[in-house]
Amino acid sequence: MQAAWRAGRNQSHGERADPLVGALIYYHEYFMEICLGLRLGHIKTFTVSSAIGKEFFYMEKILIIGCKKAMDDVCIGCSRCMVGFNRREGEFKRYAVQDAELIGLLNCGDCPGATIVTRLAQVKLWNQPMQEKVTKVHIAPCIIDHCPYKETLINKIKAKAGVEVVEGAHPYKPENIFA
Ligand code: SF4
Repeated sequence: MQAAWRAGRNQSHGERADPLVGALIYYHEYFMEICLGLRLGHIKTFTVSSAIGKEFFYMEKILIIGCKKAMDDVCIGCSRCMVGFNRREGEFKRYAVQDAELIGLLNCGDCPGATIVTRLAQVKLWNQPMQEKVTKVHIAPCIIDHCPYKETLINKIKAKAGVEVVEGAHPYKPENIFA
């Protein structure tokens, strides 16, 4: 879509100047994305004012929560969650046709997860000056698959987050390691 917009704009400044063609390509592609998004249930809201070039889609702002003992240590760089998000794979597939950004990778605060609620509140405060707000939380596989306190931890997150909490993130779990 951005390419079409640029193509239209370039055309309008090139030898075969035709701004109308650029605008038609641009809005046609917007329209097709909306239809697809609505059909798949990925688009929640959009406004008429956005249709004239501000924000057309609802933007998900994602916070991933993982295990303090695993993040950036065992699971080096948290790169599997990052790659999963960038490629829209695993539980990030749901953002395939929707605008979404990663807003943070938060660790649980260590065993037994007693500080998670305070940490969620801290994420909110820390992002307020930038007018950034979490709209969706993902619980990473390091918690889902390995945390002995996960039930308590996830229940606390679900009770206090105030937004949808998705259990799962990247899909890249190792199999048959020594086979
Ligand atoms: S509470 Fe669970 S997720 Fe947090 S460090 Fe301990 S094992 Fe990891």
